Amino acid sequence: AKDSGKNKFSVFDQEMNRQQLRRMSLEKDLRKALACSEFTVVYQPKWDSFLNVAVGLEALLRWKHPEHGLVSPTEFIPIAEETGLIVPITYWMLKDVCSQNRLWHTEGVAAVPVSINMSARMFENGGLYDAVEEALTFSELEAHFLELEITESIAMNNMEETVAQLSRLRLLGVRVSLDDFGTGFSSLGNLDEIPVNTLKIDQVFIRKSRMHSKKAIISNIIAIAGNLNLEVVAEGVETPEQIELLQSLGCRVMQGYYYGRPMPAGELGEWFIANAA
Ligand code: C2E
Ligand code: CA
Ligand code: CA
Ligand code: CA
Repeated sequence: AKDSGKNKFSVFDQEMNRQQLRRMSLEKDLRKALACSEFTVVYQPKWDSFLNVAVGLEALLRWKHPEHGLVSPTEFIPIAEETGLIVPITYWMLKDVCSQNRLWHTEGVAAVPVSINMSARMFENGGLYDAVEEALTFSELEAHFLELEITESIAMNNMEETVAQLSRLRLLGVRVSLDDFGTGFSSLGNLDEIPVNTLKIDQVFIRKSRMHSKKAIISNIIAIAGNLNLEVVAEGVETPEQIELLQSLGCRVMQGYYYGRPMPAGELGEWFIANAA
């Protein structure tokens, strides 16, 4: 018994070690990834289920590691945040996404806002406004075709500073949405003070929307949004049952695998044609 205990401990030790090594090697490679053009952007549609048209796209980052292949954002984004690398990566993304969106306008593919996820770090170093302005000028994209997705915790943690920066960006015409809404607790009391256009209902509520309690939460988020004159997007919509429920609650815009998975820019043109009303 003593032996097997010892053994288990060393297996645990090895596992810890393996994870630490992977994390260290990913961190090292992440430092080169931008310069080596290993990042790409995929786009997922936001769909108006009443009008049956795409009304927006969310840009999501993909890292193609030369040896490991695709690394999930849930693994590399936290590393990028801790190291601060998320800042130059997001600046690159701003330019790439705005240029791509402008190209879609020129080609007549689509003219909808594209959103980019913002880490807390983006509001800490003071360069976001200039980076956004530069990306818009560089791409000749109108500001209302760019949206920033922030989480409740970002808005809450450093409320005054974040609100100040968001207000300037809103004056520029940029749109703002509150991502993963409903998963942070603190915000309801100040929700009216955060300059946002849209609430995105977190996918956990949609996934469990058969539960009476989750349905009640969804319904309340939709009501709050209506009262504050905000738009709503339901995330993670996968089934016709979920669509029916959301529609019955008055939610029209949805995002999820049912309507479209995140796709490379090159596939979006065909997708828009195939899904035209
Ligand atoms: P998020 O911002 O909440 O993005 C939505 C995630 O849900 C995406 O995962 C998307 O692919 C996935 N998803 C969409 N529809 C469905 C569905 O119907 N079912 C399920 N099960 N999942 C769905 P992804 O691309 O793996 O990104 C995960 C998270 O990584 C994002 O969550 C976001 O927090 C972060 N992330 C991704 N790209 C970026 C980025 O460019 N910058 C920053 N700061 N974070 C990013
Ligand atoms: Ca998001
Ligand atoms: Ca989300
Ligand atoms: Ca999330």
